[in-house]
Amino acid sequence: MRYLIDHDVHIHSGFSPCSSDPRQTPEAILAYGLTNGFRLLCLADHAWDDSVPTAHPIWGTLKALRDRYPSLPQGKTCRFAFGLEVDMDYDDVIGLSRAEAEKLDFFVCAAGHMHIDGFTALPADDAETRVRRYLERTHALLDSDLPLYKATLAHFTFDGVAMGRPLRWLALLTDRQLRDIFTKVKKRGMGVELNFHPGQTPAERDVQLRPFRIAKEVGCTFTLGGDAHHPESFAAARARFERLVDLLALEEKDKHPYLLELMKG
Ligand SMILES: [Zn+2]
Ligand SMILES: [Zn+2]
Repeated sequence: MRYLIDHDVHIHSGFSPCSSDPRQTPEAILAYGLTNGFRLLCLADHAWDDSVPTAHPIWGTLKALRDRYPSLPQGKTCRFAFGLEVDMDYDDVIGLSRAEAEKLDFFVCAAGHMHIDGFTALPADDAETRVRRYLERTHALLDSDLPLYKATLAHFTFDGVAMGRPLRWLALLTDRQLRDIFTKVKKRGMGVELNFHPGQTPAERDVQLRPFRIAKEVGCTFTLGGDAHHPESFAAARARFERLVDLLALEEKDKHPYLLELMKG
């Protein structure tokens, strides 16, 4: 059976500084889920766990996020889960403790926010340095004590890893390095997020798809994330998910099993 498009587990509200959009409310997000017949949504705002010392000033705290949304609206056929997009600082400190992670429904882990200069990378770092750091950061995340069975590896092909070299930086990663990462993802029971916008040409798409093809080959399971920051993104999300599922020929058995647990309530 083909992979069912029944969820979006990476959505930002106006709480995230990169959204700050008063229209991006939990109610608007739930309406998007219901319109598309989704059974699961997950709020994945940027926030830093208050108990982890080195927060970047641009992130709000997890406590502030919880205070803003003490509960989320629910649909009869659509669960709206409370989660987080987890970040790391320059020293690979992860902005989420195990204790707080246990309380979340789900979370998405981003090791690639290296476009935030001085925090996740230094302005002078070249593409090679950034890619090497990206690998180290991803391994640090995968070696952490976080309950990764209820998490997904966010936007692995994110351009922010090496700004100015969109996608070309991916060519610096060998198949072996990718296999090592995704084998570890599989071992930790973590999902792999599909979030990218497919390139215009088959050559571009091949570059984007190589990591995910390797992930599939080693037996990883997948989650869908629209990463919407504004309501305008909602209209095109489903069509993009359909395309991503087709490009990787995903079947329902390739879905991250924890999503099915969450859908059960
Ligand atoms: Zn992100
Ligand atoms: Zn995001």
